[in-house]
Amino acid sequence: MAKFRKIGVLTSGGDAPGMNAAVRAVVRSALARGVEVVGIYKGYTGLISGELKTITSADVANITGLGGTILYSDRCPEFATEEGMAKAIQTCKDNEIDGIVAIGGDGTFRGATDLSMHGIPTIGIPGTIDNDITSTDYSIGFDTAMNTVLHAADCLRDTCESHARCEVIEVMGRDAGYIALECGISCGATAVAIKELPFDEDACIEKLKELRAKGQRSFIVMHSEGMPKGFGEALTERINIEADIDTRFIRLAHMVRGGAPTLRDRLIATQMGDFAVDLILEGKSDLVVCQRDDKLVATDIAWALVVDRMYKNKLKDGDLDKFTAEQIEAMKVRCAQKKAVLEDMMDVAKTLAKN
Ligand code: ADP
Repeated sequence: MAKFRKIGVLTSGGDAPGMNAAVRAVVRSALARGVEVVGIYKGYTGLISGELKTITSADVANITGLGGTILYSDRCPEFATEEGMAKAIQTCKDNEIDGIVAIGGDGTFRGATDLSMHGIPTIGIPGTIDNDITSTDYSIGFDTAMNTVLHAADCLRDTCESHARCEVIEVMGRDAGYIALECGISCGATAVAIKELPFDEDACIEKLKELRAKGQRSFIVMHSEGMPKGFGEALTERINIEADIDTRFIRLAHMVRGGAPTLRDRLIATQMGDFAVDLILEGKSDLVVCQRDDKLVATDIAWALVVDRMYKNKLKDGDLDKFTAEQIEAMKVRCAQKKAVLEDMMDVAKTLAKN
């Protein structure tokens, strides 16, 4: 196995609080093993354009508490082209980069697997507030984002209580409803709507009417951005008219992506960063770091990407061809586990909002 002298680290796709702690961990963990680290700026964009800088231990001091990413992030369609990949590989050669740790979401992992195929050992770390990487129980940024949503919902609750209003809150998560569901439960929402599970809008209106008749002053209805376009605004209108409750709509959007990371995000990011360096220095490649049942494990990126598509009902022709029956069975089990988590939480949300 070739000796690793220098590795690169980048953050890519949607930013997530905790990415900085992961960068720090990669840098310090590599330096502790005598391996130099270069920061690649703006994700794959910087790998193509050669925006690199050697990162010292001092460079990553006091960054665990910072939101965003000190390496910046970007979306880089050029990276998915042959020409873009050729430039990226050339940058690695010119700068003697022996391997890369890529922190981001599923798009970032698609890029990471391409890099691996082109001979650059690459390890992915899940960094996305959406927690929508099916192969891992947890992705960096999720906890911070949820706490930010919870704070916003608590603030809205105060004013709703004073004015006897309802607030319909849309939260990020792309197609995934984890943020909406966990925050909905935690802020005592009357109803939660997510793309993955059925939502009975009429029953929601009826419940709001019933609770108002019993004297309840304030209401929160939370939904994920995966619901059809205009869902929150239309529901707000219906509640105003049909339930006769003064109702406002708010989209929390990108504010949920910022802010100081929570302890959980700093800790898991640090552990994942250190683990990724272990993997790369062991000569592993094309893997994503996952947390399962409180343990860190490494999963083939190809498996991670396909199980994601299976979970989202987006399997493409031939997707399963390169996997064994055992691997496909493991995907099905994983999808069932993830769905069960959501269903259990939705049951709790509904039960608690009943009376
Ligand atoms: P995330 O990593 O948060 O899912 P994106 O989907 O925007 O964010 O992906 C981040 C970047 O990963 C893209 O801008 C692109 O550079 C790279 N990428 C995405 N899909 C592919 C692909 N199919 N092949 C190569 N690179 C890709």
